Order: sequence, then C-alpha cells, then structure tokens
Amino acid sequence: QLPPIDGDFYNLDLKLTEEQRELQLKVRNFMEDEVRPLVNDYWNKAKFPFEIIEKFAKLNITGVPYKGYGCPNLPFLMEGIIAQEIARVDVSISTFFGVHSGLAMGSIYLCGNEEQKQEWLPKMQKLEKIGAFGLTEPNVGSAVSQGMETTCKFDGENWILNGQKKWIGNATFADVIIIWAKDVDSHQVKGFIVRKENPGFKAEKMEDKMALRIVQNAIITLSDCKIPESDRLQNANSFRDTSKVLKMTRAGVAWQAVGCARGAYESALKYTKKREQFGKPIASYQLVQNHLVEMLSNLTAMQTMVFRLSEMQDEGILTDEHASLAKVYCSMRTRDIVSRAREVLGGNGILLEHDVARFVADAEAIYSYEGTKEINSLIVGRAITGYSAFV
Ligand code: FAD
Repeated sequence: QLPPIDGDFYNLDLKLTEEQRELQLKVRNFMEDEVRPLVNDYWNKAKFPFEIIEKFAKLNITGVPYKGYGCPNLPFLMEGIIAQEIARVDVSISTFFGVHSGLAMGSIYLCGNEEQKQEWLPKMQKLEKIGAFGLTEPNVGSAVSQGMETTCKFDGENWILNGQKKWIGNATFADVIIIWAKDVDSHQVKGFIVRKENPGFKAEKMEDKMALRIVQNAIITLSDCKIPESDRLQNANSFRDTSKVLKMTRAGVAWQAVGCARGAYESALKYTKKREQFGKPIASYQLVQNHLVEMLSNLTAMQTMVFRLSEMQDEGILTDEHASLAKVYCSMRTRDIVSRAREVLGGNGILLEHDVARFVADAEAIYSYEGTKEINSLIVGRAITGYSAFV
C-alpha cells in the first residue's frame, strides 16, 4: 500500500514516463518499508544503519545520470526525483547517498581519467566501496576557493598532503575520500583519491550535532600523507574543476530540500486531520488551514522550480547561478515549511516519533551546506549585476 501523494499538488509525477514513475515508487516503497522504521532511533543515537547499504545497492539508483561503469544513465530529472523521495523520509540518508553518489563518484566521473573511473566507479555504483568528499576545512568554509590551507607537494614520485578537513560526511567509514588540496608550487587546487588505508590519513567522528545525526561527519587530519601520482585526479587542474562537481550536486541539494519540506508537510497534514481539539479535527480550523496552505504553496513553487532546474541540467544549459538560485530558494522555503509543520503539531512537534522534529533539525544543515545562503546569493548576485561581491 503506497502512502497518498499529498505533497505533489500539481501532479508533477504525471510528467514522468511510466518507467520513471515505477522507479520513483520503488524508491518510495523502500524508504517507507526499510528506512522509516529505523531512522528516529538511529538519529537519536547518532549512529549509521549499515544494514541498509546492501538493500540500497539492489535499487540500482547509484550514479543515476552517469554513462557507463554500470551506472543507470538516466536523466538528471530522475536523480532529483530520487533525492526527493529519499529526503522525504530522511535527510541524513539522502545526504549519505548524495555525498557518495554525487560528490565522491561525481568527482571521479568528471575529473578522473579512464583508469581511475574503471577502478572505482563500478564498485561505488554497487556500494561495495563507499565515497566521501573533503573540501571544507576547520579555518576555511565559504572561502575555500581562495583560502584553502591543505597543501600538496610533488616530491618527484608521490604527492605529500598536509592539513585538515572538517565536516566530511561518510569519512569515518568511507573506502575512498576525495581530498582537495592546494599545490604549493603551482598554487592551483588539485584533487586526490585518498584510500582509507593511506598512512598519514586519519578521520575522527564529529560528535554532538543537532542536525543530520545519522550522517557520520569527520575531522580529517593529513600528516605527510603520501599519494601516488596515479591517485591524483588527472582532470582536476584548478578550483574550476571542483566547481563543476559542486554545480551538479547543488542542484541535488535543492531537490533534497524539497524532499525534506514534503516529508514535513505530509506528516503535518496527516496529523492535523487526526488530532482533535475543541471537539473537531484541528485541520478544520482556519488558522491551521492557513499554515497548511502556506506550506503547500511554497512546496509547489519549489517543486516546479527544481523540475525545470533538472530539465536545464538535461539540456546541458545549467549554470552555477541557476543551481545556486534553486539551492538558496529551496533551503529558505524549507526552513519556513518545517517550522510551520512543527507549529501545527503543537508539543508533539518536538518529539522525534512524529518525524517533524527531525526535519526541523535537518533543514538547518541543508541551509548551510554546499554553500550557505549568503554565498549562493552572491553567486546569483554576481551573475545578474556583473559585480562580484567576493573581491
Ligand atoms: P563560514 O564560511 O565560516 O560562514 C559563516 C557565516 O558567514 C555564514 O553565514 C556565511 O554565509 C557568512 N559569510 C561568509 N563569507 C561571506 C561573505 N563574503 N559575505 C556574506 N556572508 C558571508 N564539506 C565538505 O567538504 N564535505 C562534506 O561532506 C560536508 N558535509 C557537511 C555536512 C554538514 C552537516 C555541514 C553542516 C557541513 C558540511 N560541509 C561539508 C561543509 C559545508 O559545506 C560548510 O559548512 C559551508 O560551506 C559553510 O562553511 P562554514 O560552515 O565554514 O561557514
């Protein structure tokens, strides 16, 4: 039995082909049956449910848009739809998946040479090897394109990496960690395939997060970490190449925000129809309906926006500013939607068992990662005015 599709008011799902719709429903069923029953407990304990990885692999939804290497090679639109379906149940699991399939596999797909792609992508597609992506640092977040402190130096045989990375999702258990570092000689940013067993690589779990508690974020320390030239991403020659990966994944984060908002809206709608006060369901009160309609209108605007965003991605015309605008708009509106959802649940809105509390917390992470609201706004601002506020 499928849950009702309350959160698709304009029937955007009907724009999908039958095959695409089938895949969407397969992911939805999996998330409802296998993941929803687990997530509040794992979120509470800040642990990762490793038992879902094998089942996840069977869905064959890793590396959705990539061609070859066992990847499905479906439109970007499907990648977005899948991100929405996963985040609609849990944003942490969606982040685990986005980091692995988007950021880590995407770096190898867009910046690796053929040998590197052959070595990693088929195993990562099957989730036999898990990936992470290390860009942000303890001292440098938004300004990482300009102020990266992690260094790499070629000693004639190997690259020597030194520095720290912060917030790196999946890195406590990942097999392969893409590390971005500044070459002390050319001053350009380069990308490296760092294997977890590389001497000089250490990942320590970050504790006490109030959002995305299932995601295992790590502080990474690189101490004279020796990487062979064959593990340098051969087509990553400057931060411009890093940005190509981020453009692709930022579109995915916008979809993730939509999923988070949709999950919260659907939980809130269901709750207000069941919960009675003053002898009537609270859904019958005008002020509650106003909240629900504000939520739905924002959600519908977001959905239509990301739908077009993915179409542009499939048409090959997506720019950084297109992706940034959607990321800013959707993460802002999601914050508003989850807080209204929390409001109509009354006290139950802060209890994990009703799901909404988790969405409220997790929306805060979506708001800040993959470029904060300010940074993505400045990317759009630069494009529309011609003036860069970064310099
Ligand atoms: P800062 O850059 O210190 O910014 C602080 C504030 O200053 C923000 O409000 C920002 O918008 C504002 N600000 C900065 N510069 C300007 C300016 N020029 N004008 C106006 N305002 C400005 N990174 C990875 O590499 N890999 C990961 O897997 C990863 N996962 C993450 C998971 C989570 C849960 C979180 C929270 C973060 C993750 N990140 C990851 C890092 C994330 O991308 C950064 O947190 C983000 O880029 C912001 O950097 P910062 O937190 O250092 O904030």
